[in-house]
Amino acid sequence: MPQTTEIDAETLERINRGILLRTGAYLANDHFVLSHRRHTSEYVEKALVTTEPAFTEGLGDIIAKHFAKVQVDVVLTTGYGASILGHCVAKAHPSRPHFIYATKRTRTNGTNDVVLRREFHQLFTHGAKVLIVEDILTTGETVKALIKLVHALGGEVVGIGTVWRRSKKIKFKYPLFTLVDREFPTYSPTECPMCRKGIPINRVFGRRGEEEQGET
Ligand SMILES: [Zn+2]
Repeated sequence: MPQTTEIDAETLERINRGILLRTGAYLANDHFVLSHRRHTSEYVEKALVTTEPAFTEGLGDIIAKHFAKVQVDVVLTTGYGASILGHCVAKAHPSRPHFIYATKRTRTNGTNDVVLRREFHQLFTHGAKVLIVEDILTTGETVKALIKLVHALGGEVVGIGTVWRRSKKIKFKYPLFTLVDREFPTYSPTECPMCRKGIPINRVFGRRGEEEQGET
């Protein structure tokens, strides 16, 4: 049997989670209220994932390495955090892909989609191979919109790289690589173990304190 030095997925995920703990983006053993009012002891603050350039570059390296054997012409993202990460992925990938970003837009009917600046369209003239990069996958809707955009421009999606997939229910037709694949448990306020223990709610992260007023 050939010897392997590969680290198993669970260990790797623990290391990646450690990196995110270090940036302050991943908070554990605390008490948060999520936007849909469920309670949890863990939280990922998207905005803090990319605040330390050396760590962002490290995360970008890991994603680029995973897709190193795949030809990538374009790395595509949307949003500030994902774009900083996407830049790092593009820089580390051996194909030396271009890096571009789409812009999120709310349509008049209230639904969201993404649009690409006209100046970037020329990169798709000869059918670009596209790696989509996202920071945190919460619903997967943004990535789905990016996939649609790539197809509309005649490109081909070769993979999706993300830092954190919040739910294993989020799936795509294309190879997905995520640094952390952790779905943390949430509780209704009446069954929340942190509430029972009297642990104060963290008002800095999660659902904002002012929105909470008058809810009790
Ligand atoms: Zn609680």
